[in-house]
Amino acid sequence: MYPDLKLFIGGKWRSTEADMPVVNPATEEEIARLPRASVSDLDDALDAAVKGFRVWSRTSPRARADTILRAAALIRDRQEDIAQSITLEHGKPLAQARLEVIRGAEFFEWDAGEAMRTYGRIIPAAPGHKFAVHHQPVGVVAAFSPWNFPMSQPARKIAGALASGCSVILKAAEETPAGALHIVRAFEDAGLPAGVLNLVFGTPAEISGHLIPQDPVRLVAFTGSTTVGRHLTTLAAQNDTRVLMELGGHAPVIVCEDTDVHTAAVSSAVRKMRNAGQVCTSPTRFFAHESIFEDYAAAFAARAEATVVGDGRKDGVEMGPTANARRIPALAELVDDAVAQGGTLVTGGARLGNTGYFFEPTVLMNVPDTARIMQEEPFGPVAVINPVASLDEAIEQANAVPYGLAGYAFTNRADYIDRLVDEVEVGNLSINTLEASMPETPFGGVKSSGYGREGGTEGLENYMTVKNVWHSARIV
Ligand code: NAD
Repeated sequence: MYPDLKLFIGGKWRSTEADMPVVNPATEEEIARLPRASVSDLDDALDAAVKGFRVWSRTSPRARADTILRAAALIRDRQEDIAQSITLEHGKPLAQARLEVIRGAEFFEWDAGEAMRTYGRIIPAAPGHKFAVHHQPVGVVAAFSPWNFPMSQPARKIAGALASGCSVILKAAEETPAGALHIVRAFEDAGLPAGVLNLVFGTPAEISGHLIPQDPVRLVAFTGSTTVGRHLTTLAAQNDTRVLMELGGHAPVIVCEDTDVHTAAVSSAVRKMRNAGQVCTSPTRFFAHESIFEDYAAAFAARAEATVVGDGRKDGVEMGPTANARRIPALAELVDDAVAQGGTLVTGGARLGNTGYFFEPTVLMNVPDTARIMQEEPFGPVAVINPVASLDEAIEQANAVPYGLAGYAFTNRADYIDRLVDEVEVGNLSINTLEASMPETPFGGVKSSGYGREGGTEGLENYMTVKNVWHSARIV
């Protein structure tokens, strides 16, 4: 069921030393060994990507779109196989893995359409002169995708790059390599020319340290933590290489007094536990108006406690383990610190069982602003619910972190919504829903949550450069 892990370079699968274990986080059993790219593998991938770029950037947008759509159709056909691999390596419930596969296919389908709409512009000029603005693919992209969505995260980057006419070297997450590998297989079967999409695995710092300073690399596309994103941005800056950075978030949820408290609380708790909270847009800091705070927190905690936690392969499981062992101490430390500083632990707060990286659905209440969790993204199934006296206070709290990726609110008051739209510092604001993005909407952050957008009509801009052409009818 789990694929044979190999590198894919220049259109060929390649086996290398495989010494990094890939572990099922629900059982801690080894399911595979990850092949590690050597420096010469990376150099081969660079050569292949340069050749691939020559071919692909000169392929018509319609032909590019056709190939991408064929790959997306294969991904849809292979939904079950891909979902099974994702659940095995990541732990998420199978139903969520199936949805992730479809979301990945949708990213490809949307960007395939956008490939044909990378319009330029004609600028009025003096007689005998023409000014035309062209959008052209930037070149070879070094892409780094994280482990929280093993399939849809790499899909997003590959979709944008290939639709724009770029070639890609993707370093997929070492914990969850199969999602990306399935995508590559689909593109191979869809007839993508050799070298356009290359897949490598290995030690992240070694791969980024080698690839990013290379001349042919014209864009670094990364999703992950702000700390790593800053490091990669610094590396890229030394070579004047562009970056697309989707970094951390610490999403606020403003719960206004006019909302349907129970429905909002249940929706919040379910959404918080999705993917075991390992989502950059995960709602985490809940600011509920003091008049409804007790009711909201009680309903939230009751639903959080009722979450069915277990191996994602079992029917009815709503939340799997966290994806790797290091989340457990990271989450426990944040909870302990919040409690030590005077916060109330309403439910959860500790590892669940002795096998698998399970963490209890956790709700904290009345946590002081000084607690680490008020500033640090937990990236796990932990929610903080605090009371606020007014919308002013809620907005101030929402903006009181260096991050600005997603933000949410529950309200139907037009005057509140007007202020939220103007004043909450995020790239994605959702009202009365805790969904943050769709393939057709631009996704990305402000402040320390990153630069650039994926999806929407904006998504391909990162992968393209602007060239102005001045054509004079006569030599002047
Ligand atoms: P981490 O910062 O060590 O790694 C995050 C990701 O970056 C991983 O996929 C890793 O493979 C990659 N990475 C790390 N060092 C790298 C390097 N030098 N070059 C290239 N890639 C590198 O953290 P972690 O323990 O894996 O995850 C925890 C934190 O990461 C979370 O708190 C969260 O903020 C962030 N994260 C964010 C997302 C997201 O969707 N934005 C996804 C995964 C992790």
